[in-house]
Amino acid sequence: MTIRISVTSKLDGIRSWSLQALETCPGSIESPGVLVDACKGCYATTGNYNYPNVKAPRAENKLDWQRVEWCDDMVAALENDRYFRWLDSGDLYSLALAEKVLEIMQRTPWCKHWLPTRMYKFPKFRMVFDQMRQLDNVSVRFSADSIDGSFTPGLHGSTIGPDAATFQAFPGASLCQAYEHEGKCSGCRACWNRDIDLICYPAHGRKMLKVISIKSI
Ligand code: SF4
Repeated sequence: MTIRISVTSKLDGIRSWSLQALETCPGSIESPGVLVDACKGCYATTGNYNYPNVKAPRAENKLDWQRVEWCDDMVAALENDRYFRWLDSGDLYSLALAEKVLEIMQRTPWCKHWLPTRMYKFPKFRMVFDQMRQLDNVSVRFSADSIDGSFTPGLHGSTIGPDAATFQAFPGASLCQAYEHEGKCSGCRACWNRDIDLICYPAHGRKMLKVISIKSI
């Protein structure tokens, strides 16, 4: 096994380590067979993410992280990264994986890590997230489940709404403006900024717009 890093066009070439969406996302399940609203529009289940050459490395990563040498190999792989995104798709479905990611964050102080997650819903993960948040180079963002812009202050670090106007009521939050830059971050690094409590994402992608459309009928 080798370290498999992905790069999405959105993130200005910033690299990511990812897993297959949904099957590693227990926090996306609202009730048996029903996803939370935010995950019904998951971009990682459509388009390019369905190609075999995109799915295969995510499936291999699910095995690879269990190697004894994985943390050492990840630390070496991040030698030249100054920003890194965890889980462009998928989530930290295993506490053992979360503990390994914490170790990698601790051993790469030169790199800023952004970790969006829904695993905060499971109490056994809280301690490892607390430890991550004590690191100056780590931004852990608990994702809200809604697509109407609602969130719980002090808990959620990101939320989704139908459009930019939704978030005018939250002056302290940072609005993601990738939609104004052809879907790219274009130098913005707000998601990695620990001083920003909440990132507000206008819905993006056809599938999410469809979900919002259905809900608003
Ligand atoms: S808030 Fe900034 S860093 Fe985060 S996704 Fe949007 S453009 Fe990128």
